[in-house]
Amino acid sequence: MGLRTKEQFLESLRDGREVYIFGERVEDVTTHPVLKVTAETVAQDFAITELDDQEVRNLFVLPHPETGEPMSRYFQTPKTTEDLKKRKEMISRSILLTGGLPFGKDIGTDALNAAMVVAQQMNKPEYGERTKNYLEYLIRNDWTLSGAITDTKGDRSKTPADQAHPDYYLHVVDRNKDGIVVKGCKMHITAAPCCNDILVLPTRNMRENEADYAVSFATPSNAKGIKFICRPSRGERSPNEYPSSLPIRDLNEAMIVFDDVFVPWERVFMCGEWAYAILLAYTFATFHRFTAVCYHIPIVENLAGCAVAMAEMNGIANEEHVKDKLINIASSVEIIKALAQAATLSPVMHGEIAVPSPLITNMAKLHYARGYHEVIKMVQDISGGIISTLPTYRDWENPETRPYMEHYLGGNSKYTTEERLRMVAHTHRWVASAESAHQEMITVHAEGSMETQKMMIMVEAPFKDYRNLALMAAGVEIKD
Ligand SMILES: Cc1cc2nc3c(=O)[nH]c(=O)nc-3n(C[C@H](O)[C@H](O)[C@H](O)COP(=O)(O)OP(=O)(O)OC[C@H]3O[C@@H](n4cnc5c(N)ncnc54)[C@H](O)[C@@H]3O)c2cc1C
Repeated sequence: MGLRTKEQFLESLRDGREVYIFGERVEDVTTHPVLKVTAETVAQDFAITELDDQEVRNLFVLPHPETGEPMSRYFQTPKTTEDLKKRKEMISRSILLTGGLPFGKDIGTDALNAAMVVAQQMNKPEYGERTKNYLEYLIRNDWTLSGAITDTKGDRSKTPADQAHPDYYLHVVDRNKDGIVVKGCKMHITAAPCCNDILVLPTRNMRENEADYAVSFATPSNAKGIKFICRPSRGERSPNEYPSSLPIRDLNEAMIVFDDVFVPWERVFMCGEWAYAILLAYTFATFHRFTAVCYHIPIVENLAGCAVAMAEMNGIANEEHVKDKLINIASSVEIIKALAQAATLSPVMHGEIAVPSPLITNMAKLHYARGYHEVIKMVQDISGGIISTLPTYRDWENPETRPYMEHYLGGNSKYTTEERLRMVAHTHRWVASAESAHQEMITVHAEGSMETQKMMIMVEAPFKDYRNLALMAAGVEIKD
């Protein structure tokens, strides 16, 4: 089939999938007032590959290594530093081109890349074959897929087998010559109601008595027994909101219930290999945190831009305390960019597959998760209270109130009052709205809580080398 158009993608979502939001079943996610924003956001991946711009096309599309047919770069299994750099550039650029992260292929291919790495290690050639065949299927159909890793987990102090009931972690409940039947629920799955397939991985290590929980597979989103129960994400821009040159972009999260779902063997990538569950979760985390760092770059650059623009518009750009805050914001942003670049330069090779440096990737994710709220606080401080008290755009348009707003709400005369208010509204959206609170949550928890990054840094950092250096300097013998 080759690359799809945006319309072909949207049409493919009208497939009878079972989606719920606000207490109702959704007939068509592409026309639902809230979910259509996610559908449109994911569809931007296809809008980009339809663009005529050759430079953009070279970044997002490449020839299939065997057939030469054009395919999405998301489906390129990274083998070199250059491949990782291109993936980084593509993810960051997709936000700049469309106003939001499309996310129909990002996390899913992170999950598939991890499944391919672990398939090599399990010493069962069928898993290698199946992951490769699945990748070809995705390429052929230019398919989108969500990545469903996080289980609902129940009591966090207990492992899957020790929970009050067996379903807090997704598991195999039956198997036969054709495939397996799975039951459970994956939680917080981004863009899932508007993706074609779901790729499932285990979320943690498993013990021998938890082999049924060590399961990875792909399934169509409309398979029998799959139900999406969605969070109330935002819909289209309301008439109360100030206009912007960019459309509203958002990605809905859903809990996905797997109510005895059948999966044929050709789509099963792990089933019972409990000792490898942690490797799969760990490798996925590295791939996905790298993706997250890449998409975070334009987000924090925009935040820095809000700080600079609001300082200028409020006439405080040359104040020492403001310069100090801008320096801190710029440092925070540029460290993320430098770490993202560094992660591509020292990949860990698993056979032919290049995994971004796990140490640097986790440092980058931890750095921005720790620092994001601080940046938000500095933007809030510089911008002033108006970012949360600005009257609505309807009041700006009302001839009875607009003259007062025009007269009283100006700032630096280089900008009109309306320009200042548009900037205030944009800054509100990023640092003082329900959406910005959600973005803060994404920063803390999506791609794993900060403790999980620390765990990986603990494993990956060269502590022994540090110690040996110090021992040598102190003239103490190294004893191992
Ligand atoms: C907006 C958003 C989008 C997301 N998108 C996706 C997605 O597309 N796909 C996907 O699979 N997941 C997704 N996630 C899930 C995300 O990966 C999890 O939220 C994250 O891993 C934390 O898990 P949790 O929410 O269950 O929190 P918890 O694991 O309950 O964490 C809460 C706190 O408890 C601590 N904690 C938990 N267990 C233990 C323990 N045993 N010992 C000590 N401390 C512990 C944690 O460190 C943390 O401090 C998303 C999350 C968000 C918020």
